[in-house]
Amino acid sequence: MSLAEEIREYALDIGFDRVGFASAEPFPQLAAALEERAEDYAWISRGLLQLNKAVDPRSILPSARSLIVLIWDYHKQSFPQELTGKIGRAYLARLFLPKDRIFGARLKLFRDFLKQRGIALGTRPALPDRQAAARAGLGTFGRNTFIYVPGMGSFAAIVTMAVDVDLGGESREAISRCPDDCGACIRACPTGALYEPFRMNPRRCIAFNTYAPGNWPLVPEDIPREIREKMGSWIYGCDLCQEACPRNRKKLQEKLPPDAYLLEKAKTITLTNLLNMDEQFYLTQVQPFLYGYIWHKKFLQRNAAIALGNSGDDAAVPHLARALEDPEEMVRAYAAWALGRIGGAAARAALESRRGREDSAKVLEEIEIALT
Ligand code: SF4
Ligand code: SF4
Repeated sequence: MSLAEEIREYALDIGFDRVGFASAEPFPQLAAALEERAEDYAWISRGLLQLNKAVDPRSILPSARSLIVLIWDYHKQSFPQELTGKIGRAYLARLFLPKDRIFGARLKLFRDFLKQRGIALGTRPALPDRQAAARAGLGTFGRNTFIYVPGMGSFAAIVTMAVDVDLGGESREAISRCPDDCGACIRACPTGALYEPFRMNPRRCIAFNTYAPGNWPLVPEDIPREIREKMGSWIYGCDLCQEACPRNRKKLQEKLPPDAYLLEKAKTITLTNLLNMDEQFYLTQVQPFLYGYIWHKKFLQRNAAIALGNSGDDAAVPHLARALEDPEEMVRAYAAWALGRIGGAAARAALESRRGREDSAKVLEEIEIALT
């Protein structure tokens, strides 16, 4: 058995669904795109992931000779409808949790396997997973910028590692297999973030706006008003441009077994519970579940306030009135916005009551706008 075959077999054995190998040459098209749109992509280029460095895998591992691309189908089980439409499937699937959770544990096993064979590997900063998957021949691009893997659609968690051994990797051109006349993803995007085929402005993307700036230093704390209204019920991520896609239709219509963990979570992870959560709820319910909010409770409260405001549901008013008393300025400010969006006598009464006691200029501004 060759080393490549041995690696492939081990990866499949520990639960990955596809394994591919690609050359470790740079990704010049990605480098050019990042340079051309430097401001749009600053958060991911200069921030945590440093994608501008990773366009050359040898800047991560100077001895890199191949890329290993691992793919896991994260839509093998169904997602409770109480959570879809609020939290993106990639987050519900717990892809970003550390090595004491299943996906992180799988990655640790795989890294250990390589190390035991004396193979040097580099994974940080993050390598361009979608481009690497296309180069390895594992998938093709959609006009929504996602990679589509046969049998999986776009619900593919991709991990790329640079290694110092030659695994006979592929060097395929990135291609698309979208039907010629399809633009369903672009039409489905409520904010115009996806503004033309293969081009997305992350700063208008709902997913980007729901992230917590503490994890992503260049994500702004405040969400523009115009985007807030278009966020609908999303509080973490957004799947609309994947849900609209005919290339995902089969996957989305499949009868899949339920995910028992998520069925439990759906009982507690509600918008009102998140909006009014205390430290105990945050520590026991949010931290073990939603990776992006492990350090920043207030941002998830902000997003829950927006979603409740967008619901237009009068039943949310008492919860938002309670959030107007929250110690965090941000939570009070977005609760005021949401009450203004719902409107009505009870919402006005809550806003007027708080106006006389509020000392934050930011919150007072939101209250004034909400009352006009
Ligand atoms: S994730 Fe949502 S907001 Fe972002 S591009 Fe897709 S549809 Fe638009
Ligand atoms: S919605 Fe249509 S254009 Fe967009 S990714 Fe899917 S097939 Fe391609």
